[in-house]
Amino acid sequence: MGVPTIGCTCAVCKSKDPHDYRTRPSVMIEWDGHRVLIDTTPDFREQAIREGIDRLDAVLYTHGHADHILGLDDLRPLSFARVTGGAKLPLYANADTARVLRSVFKYIFDNNYKYGGIAQVHLHEVNSPVEILGKTFQPVTVIHGETEIFGYRFGSAAYLTDFSTVPEESLAKLHDLDVLFLDALRHTPHPTHSTVANSLSIVDRVRPKRTFFTHISHDLAHEATNASLPENVRLAYDGLRLQFEL
Ligand SMILES: [Zn+2]
Ligand SMILES: [Zn+2]
Repeated sequence: MGVPTIGCTCAVCKSKDPHDYRTRPSVMIEWDGHRVLIDTTPDFREQAIREGIDRLDAVLYTHGHADHILGLDDLRPLSFARVTGGAKLPLYANADTARVLRSVFKYIFDNNYKYGGIAQVHLHEVNSPVEILGKTFQPVTVIHGETEIFGYRFGSAAYLTDFSTVPEESLAKLHDLDVLFLDALRHTPHPTHSTVANSLSIVDRVRPKRTFFTHISHDLAHEATNASLPENVRLAYDGLRLQFEL
């Protein structure tokens, strides 16, 4: 829901620490002037302006929930020919997610919108590694409640947002990581999300060099939570930048 959460007056929602201000989760991978975004959150416009994003090469989707897709329409200014040179901006999603995108954004994907100005995107359905400009983005299946969705591994980093469980076959894809992002919504169990304790148990299994928790609710204060975590595990925050081998 983002922090502050609408209508909430808890200590984290009222916090003056800028790390406690959380837009919806998304990451961008940048190399040699290329940029790939994972998910277009309802806050994508704010995030893109904050980070000075003036072009994108592709968007990968993890799943079709509102907090991960609703910014798709704000890809418009980055999808027009004057920015892309005429090519449509490629989007990648699994079949379930693609179905949701085509339904929620029917006017974009129906090809019969008369008034112009819609996002110039091309949706690719994928269920295997995606090659983008010489780099590989490998889907890593995670279980989000009862749904199988995608995380992604790219080089020595992996981004797993929105899961309650990570299957054994997927843990096996997470060896030798410099950077791992894991869902850690809060301490209290949730039917579709991971807790701090559950994600720490994944860190113990996978042993990445550094781990960043994401998809954090207003239950977790940035500073106090970090103080309780092992040194190589931190809460992610808006605007966090990391370097790793791609
Ligand atoms: Zn979700
Ligand atoms: Zn989510």
